[in-house]
Amino acid sequence: MAKESTFKLTYATMFNPPAELHTRFEDALAKVKASLGQEHGMIIGGQERKARQTFEDRSPINTDWLLGIFPEGSAQDAQDAVAAARQASKDWGNRPWQERLSLLRKAADLIDERIFEFGAVIALEVGKNRMEALGDAAEAADLIRYACDQIDANGGFVKKMGEDPLEGFKAVNFSVLRPYGVWLIISPFNFPAALTGGPAGAAMAAGNAIVIKPASDTPWTSRLLAECFRDAGLPDGVFNFVTGPGSTLGQALIDSPDVDGVTFTGSYDVGMHIFRSFAQGNYVRPTILEMGGKNPAIVSQHANIEDAALGIVRSAFGLQGQKCSACSRVFIEKTVYQKTLARILELTNQLGIGDPTERDVYLGPVVNKKSYQDYQDFIREIDLAGGRFLTGGKTLTDGALAKGYYCAPTVVANLPLEHPLWKQEMFLPITTITAVDSLEEAMRLANEVSYGLTAGFYGSLEESKWFFDHIQAGVTYANRPQGATTGAWPGYQPFGGWKGSGSSGKNAGGLYYTQLYMREQIQTLIQRS
Ligand code: NDP
Repeated sequence: MAKESTFKLTYATMFNPPAELHTRFEDALAKVKASLGQEHGMIIGGQERKARQTFEDRSPINTDWLLGIFPEGSAQDAQDAVAAARQASKDWGNRPWQERLSLLRKAADLIDERIFEFGAVIALEVGKNRMEALGDAAEAADLIRYACDQIDANGGFVKKMGEDPLEGFKAVNFSVLRPYGVWLIISPFNFPAALTGGPAGAAMAAGNAIVIKPASDTPWTSRLLAECFRDAGLPDGVFNFVTGPGSTLGQALIDSPDVDGVTFTGSYDVGMHIFRSFAQGNYVRPTILEMGGKNPAIVSQHANIEDAALGIVRSAFGLQGQKCSACSRVFIEKTVYQKTLARILELTNQLGIGDPTERDVYLGPVVNKKSYQDYQDFIREIDLAGGRFLTGGKTLTDGALAKGYYCAPTVVANLPLEHPLWKQEMFLPITTITAVDSLEEAMRLANEVSYGLTAGFYGSLEESKWFFDHIQAGVTYANRPQGATTGAWPGYQPFGGWKGSGSSGKNAGGLYYTQLYMREQIQTLIQRS
């Protein structure tokens, strides 16, 4: 039994955590560390499934730490998982929605009960600091609840429509939102709990049976999530969990004609590839894509400089810049440029870097060797293009850091505005900064990218309204010290992108999201009167 907590981890308590949070996290971390290196299975049709080939899950904090061993699922496993989901989908989709919600709410409660175990695993697997790791798991639980609440609030999306005035007949019309059937969820490494659990919760609450394929860097977190679904009593086959490479296992799932819809969260390139692959089927199937970002912050001469600098640093370097919402471009009106920049550098240089499971560490390692190499390549490219490193620009290898993938938070000035790195997502702790002559110039530059995920602004009330009206992004913030471009929570800031950042135009954890997992059926029933 999980120990009863005297507080609940929520959006509010996370910013001002009580001491109990730290001791419980540390206890869980010690337990998790004592259980490293075990072999885990997939779950298909309620059964544990191993594979002939396996892969290692290692920590980016210290690559000597073997976290676990996972099956490298095959095309046959993909097919079996889809078939198991198909078989379970009929009963699940036809059940009274209240029954579905009750099981899913139980799963959300189990995530809460196990939150410190989740937090420890996420910190070790992704390299997140403890508050970010706990927040990821807490958000997963709340996203599942939010989807359930939406279905409740809309009476299961069964709505009586008008009665046709037909003489001699009674005509009753209903609009009913029904599940599609089998839904595939492919998730990224950076929010392995929330971005797996959120779509999974919405898809299943809507009545679909699902197949989950997590990122190969973070299979353990998703396995914990699958265990919450299993232990909550979801029927066999309603959720299926498979692990293995995107390029083979993931592709086999995408290529399956028996998948009715997909939610992909990840990079633009993979997302667009999935979009095109999935379109090869016989008919159009729903494709929810949540992709990258190149998120700008704009600072006006009327901004509160302290709030702006704090928000920019938090968003540029939180989770080592590996958030789709990371602030990777900063445009500052020239009269306040030097002052804002000085404060940004001061705050950046104060960030604690190291093993992110430790209490005062803000910045951990980047997720894997490829990202570590990318960081070094981008630094070289910026240097060659004449960019100036105001801070950072190097990997960190002193002492224990040599065992992990640590990169200094990097602020770049003087990168020519026509350089491609102003437009390409780097997904690393690198942000580029420039002075602008006017807010109009900043807005033009901010919008001149294929992405449109998040954006931040610091300035007067009137300017903020102007910003909301002109910026092309799905999540926008004005004058927010907690993060210029980051921060999302179901029911507060539902999350989704425009343009190359997202396909549906509706944000996860918001009012219009759960419906994406359902299709409308109009039921007209005529009786002679
Ligand atoms: P990737 O695009 O590399 O991978 C995402 C997922 O797709 C992984 O599970 C991966 O598996 C899988 N995959 C890869 N190739 C295929 C394929 N051919 N068929 C099916 N599945 C495949 O993204 P990252 O994990 O590196 O995540 C970072 C990216 O995600 C960034 O671009 C970030 O901006 C974006 N993101 C967007 C969010 C949003 O809400 N808009 C939120 C969070 C992140 P494997 O790991 O095995 O390769």
